[in-house]
Amino acid sequence: MGKVTGFIEYQREDAPKRPVAERVGDYREIEQSLPEERLRRQAARCMDCGVPYCHTFGCPLANRIPDWNDMVFRGQWRRALELLHATNNLPEVTGRICPATCEASCTLGINAPPVSIRQIELAIVERGWREGWIVPERAPRRSGKRAVVVGSGPAGLAAAQQLARAGHDVVVYEKADRPGGILRYGIPDFKLEKWVLDRRIAQLEAEGVVFETRVEAGRDVSVNYLRRTFDAVVVAAGSRVPRDVRLPGRDLAGVHLAMDYLTAQNRRVAGDTLDADLSATAVLAVARHGRAVPTEAGVNSGATARRDGTRRIIAGGPAHHARTPQAPGGVQPAAAAAGGAKRRGGLAACA
Ligand SMILES: Cc1cc2nc3c(=O)[nH]c(=O)nc-3n(C[C@H](O)[C@H](O)[C@H](O)COP(=O)(O)OP(=O)(O)OC[C@H]3O[C@@H](n4cnc5c(N)ncnc54)[C@H](O)[C@@H]3O)c2cc1C
Ligand code: SF4
Repeated sequence: MGKVTGFIEYQREDAPKRPVAERVGDYREIEQSLPEERLRRQAARCMDCGVPYCHTFGCPLANRIPDWNDMVFRGQWRRALELLHATNNLPEVTGRICPATCEASCTLGINAPPVSIRQIELAIVERGWREGWIVPERAPRRSGKRAVVVGSGPAGLAAAQQLARAGHDVVVYEKADRPGGILRYGIPDFKLEKWVLDRRIAQLEAEGVVFETRVEAGRDVSVNYLRRTFDAVVVAAGSRVPRDVRLPGRDLAGVHLAMDYLTAQNRRVAGDTLDADLSATAVLAVARHGRAVPTEAGVNSGATARRDGTRRIIAGGPAHHARTPQAPGGVQPAAAAAGGAKRRGGLAACA
């Protein structure tokens, strides 16, 4: 525990965000970082709990949060980076867009704002990239085994990196034209700029991972071929089956499923020319029980439409669903509202 009284002395300070009027004019990331001294104070708020709920229950990766909080407080950034990478292949992604269930689990959150863990995580990894500490880690010995990973979303990228570092020859088959899965074609740039992804993919390639895009396993290459050719097959294909709804007007022109809309917008931002016009009249983002509520996809769609110049945006849903369970500092429906969306019960639609 870096500073015994840190949680009493210091208040939580969230990462600053670019002003609304500025950020709705472009697709660049909205979140900025605190200067080092203020970040170290945030790390000093960690109480190094006997049972660290953040690490034990909150983080699906079991990130060793109290330890790297302590290292950041002491200015031991490189050690913190090594510890962060011990459990997480993509901290620059989780540091930007993870819903931060660690913060929702933080003991300090019982009677005060929780430790701003996600912000500290991002600062550690971005410092690592800036300092040149993050370099390709080639396997010291080759195993002579071949592995294929189907799908290049975060699950596929992490699996491919671990396999390559274990010395195996790794090929990733991706049916889309670029690797990255939903990180590439679901999540908009204002939450995750795509150079962040490309930087990590370049590291994987330098470690020996071969990406083959526009290859659909099961169609372009058969399952039998995969079994014959590779010693191991990892299926990390995600799930793209939309949950559609039956509503009056669902079949009208201009009513899109969120993922179709977001994929098209991400492509446009990446500089692709699209055949079909997918500018939104209404976007359906459907979640639990088939109800239309402002989900992650809904918020992303609303904020994307705002940047597209859509004049009227309504982010709605049944009143008790009008927020997502996200820790302070995350991108929430409130943030969409701050970007110009209006909240309303009933349908999630952008008009
Ligand atoms: C709009 C949206 C916003 C989100 N925002 C967030 C967020 O802010 N924070 C967060 O933590 N989570 C968010 N999520 C959830 C997160 O994106 C997913 O949990 C995560 O991407 C799942 O990773 P994955 O690797 O399993 O699958 P995916 O990212 O879906 O990747 C699977 C890949 O496999 C490929 N593939 C599928 N079948 C084949 C095949 N037969 N052959 C070759 N390739 C194939 C696909 O093309 C795809 O590229 C969001 C999801 C959506 C839809
Ligand atoms: S639960 Fe909160 S205060 Fe306790 S160790 Fe984790 S981050 Fe620190």
